Amino acid sequence: LTERLSKAMKNLTGRGRISDEDLQETLREIRLALLEADVNYATVKKFVANVREKAKGADIMNGLNAAQQIVKIVNDELTETMGEEAVPLNKSDKIPTVIMMAGLQGAGKTTTVAKLAYKLKQEANARPLLIAADVYRPAAIEQLEILGRDLDMPVFSMGTDVDPREIVKKGLAQAKENKNDYVFIDTAGRLQIDADMMQELKDIEKIAQPDEILLTVDAMTGQNATATAEGFADALDITGVVLTKLDGDTRGGAALSIRDVTGKPIKFVGQGEKPTDLDVFYPDRMASRILGMGDMLTLIEKAQKEVDEEQQAKQLQKMRENTFDFNDFVDQLKQVQKMGPLEDLMKMIPGMANNPALANVNIDEKQFKHMEAIVSSMTPAEREDPELINPSRRRRLAAGAGRPIVEVNRMIKQFDQMRKMMNQATKGNFGGMEQMMGG
Ligand code: GDP
Ligand code: MG
Repeated sequence: LTERLSKAMKNLTGRGRISDEDLQETLREIRLALLEADVNYATVKKFVANVREKAKGADIMNGLNAAQQIVKIVNDELTETMGEEAVPLNKSDKIPTVIMMAGLQGAGKTTTVAKLAYKLKQEANARPLLIAADVYRPAAIEQLEILGRDLDMPVFSMGTDVDPREIVKKGLAQAKENKNDYVFIDTAGRLQIDADMMQELKDIEKIAQPDEILLTVDAMTGQNATATAEGFADALDITGVVLTKLDGDTRGGAALSIRDVTGKPIKFVGQGEKPTDLDVFYPDRMASRILGMGDMLTLIEKAQKEVDEEQQAKQLQKMRENTFDFNDFVDQLKQVQKMGPLEDLMKMIPGMANNPALANVNIDEKQFKHMEAIVSSMTPAEREDPELINPSRRRRLAAGAGRPIVEVNRMIKQFDQMRKMMNQATKGNFGGMEQMMGG
């Protein structure tokens, strides 16, 4: 794909805005990339239409060409669709937190139980109980028992002759008695979704009232993964998805379609057979895996950074040359306001944390409006050269802005202090200053 795309890209150069032709060509490639990554057809169609709307006539960033800009939009959209943030496991406010597994046979349920229980034990000192409720394959109970022994965790089992519903009831009772903080219910799967299996799972759901029902899906099953996920999500109140076998060569497009058809967050990904081979799901990493355009995304990221840095560098230059004026002051305040409390930002500059000048730069919304009013009463010359603002000019500004003269004086003093401070900081510690500007 990347080869095809780079060919397409040679014909496209930065033209300021994304044209319909750019879109046509690049989205065709994106569509293919998604299908090759096993994203479900209906999801691809919807997704591409969505991106088309967003990308139409969008500005092309400096340093990128149209195709790259479209890829950036696609990547952002992929990340957002899969849910920007990693979503943690649900936790009950009273013990035990009950986690129930669901999924086809061989999807990785039992392995995932071991992985998650191990993770909770390592990270939170948890004392989980594992309930073996897959009675259809004799080896399944033994598999869980061996894992429990290896990881030093209790496993509750009653053999293969007892109804799974009964096993779950008894297992939960034991967990209460022993004050286990987590219970994992390892359930049975079939090779295909069938009514009996679903009924059994629904019954277990009713009995156990789980805080989390984790649908386990094998990422290697490609297009089928989506249909499977849909089937389970229709019958059960799925709360999260674990996508397994991502250590294989799949691009993981199932992540996008599963999220699309179920609306449920993917919480973890399985990356191997060992108990440690479990990772939190990160949408941005998955997006770049699905797109399979790692190099290009790195380039795009770099261009984005350069654009930001260019703007910052201009301001820094002004500060260093002491040409930082009232216009910049207002710009800067606006920018800084977006980033959070000015004080906090100033404190990031080494040596500034205890600077008494900081006491004066605590600015609230209303004050900020007043400051803007005062600045807008200034003549262009005054804005550029604050030294010009003598006492009579100060009176004029106060009258113009409808603010008391003390406020004008205070603002000019603050500006002066800020400029001096910035000047010092940029000379002495460029890195710290950059940190502050970049947030
Ligand atoms: P279950 O039937 O859903 O309980 O599936 P299992 O947990 O028994 O797993 C089926 C097979 O897949 C086993 O051989 C596991 O070792 C393997 N498996 C599970 N998760 C992963 C994974 O993330 N990566 C790889 N490579 N293999 C896995
Ligand atoms: Mg199993």
